Amino acid sequence: MPDTQVFKDRLTALKADVTLRLNSIDKDIRHEDMSADWSEQATERENDEVLESLGINADQTLLMINNALQRIEVGEYFICSECGGSIPAARLELLPFSALCVDCAEYLERETGATQSAN
Ligand SMILES: [Zn+2]
Repeated sequence: MPDTQVFKDRLTALKADVTLRLNSIDKDIRHEDMSADWSEQATERENDEVLESLGINADQTLLMINNALQRIEVGEYFICSECGGSIPAARLELLPFSALCVDCAEYLERETGATQSAN
């Protein structure tokens, strides 16, 4: 079984990165210096939507990172949370917060991808 320390370090660094990003998104959304110009305000509102969706993604990423760190703690980092099979270290090097093996991830992507592409 590969050493988890390197993954733990990467996840901790990623977590700091995402937390920073979340903080700066929060600051941007608040933008205290609200413009008096209406069209500019409209643009700012559009930006807010983008920022909010980024915020949600960053939130989700943060959850996945915390989940992965938890999985390291309990010794389940290399175990797929869906089928209980093993997750190859090569996959975790690309996606250190993945909780799924390739098969399960592809299966779930197909399931959710179908509704997304109909959008
Ligand atoms: Zn699996």
